[in-house]
Amino acid sequence: MSTTATVSVFFLGGTISMTPVGGTAASGDTHSEDAHSGGAVSRLGPRELVDAIPGLAALGVTLDLRDFRKLPSADLCFADLLELLDVAERANTDGVVVVQGTDTLEETAYLFDLLWRGDAPIVVTGAMRNPSLAGADGPANLLAAVTVAAGSQFRGLGALVVLNDEVHAARHVAKHHTSSPAAFVSPNAGPIGRVVEGTPTPTASVARLPTLARPATISVSVPVISIALDDDGTLLDGIERRCAGLVVAGFGAGHVPGRLAERLGAIAARIPVVLASRTGAGPVLSRTYGAIGSEVDLLQRGLVGAGMLDPFKARVLLSVLLANAGSREVVAAQFARLAGVAHS
Ligand code: ASP
Repeated sequence: MSTTATVSVFFLGGTISMTPVGGTAASGDTHSEDAHSGGAVSRLGPRELVDAIPGLAALGVTLDLRDFRKLPSADLCFADLLELLDVAERANTDGVVVVQGTDTLEETAYLFDLLWRGDAPIVVTGAMRNPSLAGADGPANLLAAVTVAAGSQFRGLGALVVLNDEVHAARHVAKHHTSSPAAFVSPNAGPIGRVVEGTPTPTASVARLPTLARPATISVSVPVISIALDDDGTLLDGIERRCAGLVVAGFGAGHVPGRLAERLGAIAARIPVVLASRTGAGPVLSRTYGAIGSEVDLLQRGLVGAGMLDPFKARVLLSVLLANAGSREVVAAQFARLAGVAHS
């Protein structure tokens, strides 16, 4: 593939830019006094990363490199990501690549999918093995991400995640392994494409969902509480006074112990409560199980079903809706519109 496209590449940190403290010195080392010797921290800058990629220059893509943050992705905040969207939109390039740590990558990508207004692909990538390790995957992932962002094949589809030569829709993808280079999967749908011999190749279609109004800030407190066997619900106590909304990661198709049902209903009368599943795949059901604490019971008590969204994506969507001052009715309507089974 050779192209005249221009692609903005935003570097946020993560494993792809990490080298071990006490190892090879690198420019931009802002963490050495702040980090544990022997462990890897973000140190490499955009130029060093890009120059290390065989085949990138031959693409002919003009790269607009942005040294945006140098953080482990656990330290990224909604404010960083909203700022990035503003800057990326002003850059007005043919495509955007966001390079970040993989730990929160699925949440970042889903936020972008909800709020990115353009047709230009916004492609999120990272690495599972840092550059000091054998088989480091960062260069291949970044090359594939630029290839997808510069091409026409995935235009108009919102945010995408590209790792391991696979293209995933942001709404489906999740990190399902702590260390494998094949950590990213779309459990409900599979990848929507691949990069084959350097060419972005769609293998499945995905509908572009409507975007939401972009809030100036997202500073609402929305925890995810996962329910466990014989859970006494201690974490739920007084939560409606401390938080703007809540995501409950229930068992199976959306279930909690019966003794928590009334308490959750009372909380849902005060703040929006979204019912998701802790299983990692499949929809929250709506009319299958009838016991107290099952999905039928909880939805009747006012909880909102998360549809196909896992708890972490449901939290991102709920946070955006609440930052836009959405009522419980708006939250229910938007989850039905954006998270439903029909959109898989
Ligand atoms: N801890 C890293 C992060 O910043 C992990 C990674 O990049 O894969 O998310």
